[in-house]
Amino acid sequence: MKAIRFHEFGDAHILRYEEAPTPTIGPNDVLLQLKAAALNHLDVFARSGAREKNIPLPHIPGSDGSGVIAEVGSTVELVRRGDKVLISPGISCGNCPECLSKRDNLCRSYRVLGTKEDGTYAEYVRLPSANVVPIPEGLTFEEAAAIPLVFLTAWHMLVTLAKVHPGEIVLVHGAGSGVGSAGIQIAKLFGARVITTAGSNDKLVKAKALGADELINYQENDFAEEVKRITGKRGVDIVFEHIGGEVFRKSLTVVAKGGRLVTCGSTTDFNTNIDLRYIYSRHQTIYGSWMGSKNEMFDVMKFFSAEGDVARRRLRPVIDSVFPLAQAANAQLWMEERRNFGKIVLKIS
Ligand SMILES: [Zn+2]
Repeated sequence: MKAIRFHEFGDAHILRYEEAPTPTIGPNDVLLQLKAAALNHLDVFARSGAREKNIPLPHIPGSDGSGVIAEVGSTVELVRRGDKVLISPGISCGNCPECLSKRDNLCRSYRVLGTKEDGTYAEYVRLPSANVVPIPEGLTFEEAAAIPLVFLTAWHMLVTLAKVHPGEIVLVHGAGSGVGSAGIQIAKLFGARVITTAGSNDKLVKAKALGADELINYQENDFAEEVKRITGKRGVDIVFEHIGGEVFRKSLTVVAKGGRLVTCGSTTDFNTNIDLRYIYSRHQTIYGSWMGSKNEMFDVMKFFSAEGDVARRRLRPVIDSVFPLAQAANAQLWMEERRNFGKIVLKIS
């Protein structure tokens, strides 16, 4: 099969479009013929070797994807050849107390597809049968591939951990990122007022169209000062954080009394200084969040389903651009330069 692989760690230029062995499956697996894959920052972390060196080489990156079931293992009953599915990207043991209590993302062996196993930048991928979800009626393969990782992450952060409720004010950082574009929509779905940030006015126009109420251009203004102005110095109930470094530090200064900050990553710097006085004097809670459970994947998918009636969909995948699989290196550079608004998709066949 054709695949994108890297044989060493480095920048985007090490990605090779080449022939790779088609995976073989075990009794509990499915073989998915991929139609589309979507990019995540995790792909870059895997490729660069900066955060994770324990990756077998050569390696196929990619956590998000959609396609058609090509083969099923001998014990698989719930999916059949020909089913159109998207990938639920968290892989776990399936047997431990965490896995059996809808908290599989806390399993000791939990990992994201494409970080240890070969991923979705390929014509085929092997998956446990528990890791596929039917594509709702009316979604294209490209749209389906753009959903899983970011919507699962944003749902777990806002709904499960921070427990957003109507009338609360949520600061969503990075409207143009995949997870930011999902966070805005989920916060609005639950009746919150959304303040969001982006590095250009073009991106802010698109954020407004997704439902954001207040817009901050962080290149032109200090986001913390703007949040204080917008909220009359009160601050926000929830900060949706995935940038890290200075953004995390400053975010604590705008969390209102009793508010929460929830973080799922650090695309800039994973070190920062924290002024602990904010946390105790304002009764703040900080949640660390990584992916979400398979159960939550089913929860969030309900809002993409409208039995073909697109107007009734409550959430929608946001696609920035579609690249052919062979141009995955250009697609990753596009993301690394933060030129995207929403998801970058690879079209595979
Ligand atoms: Zn487990």
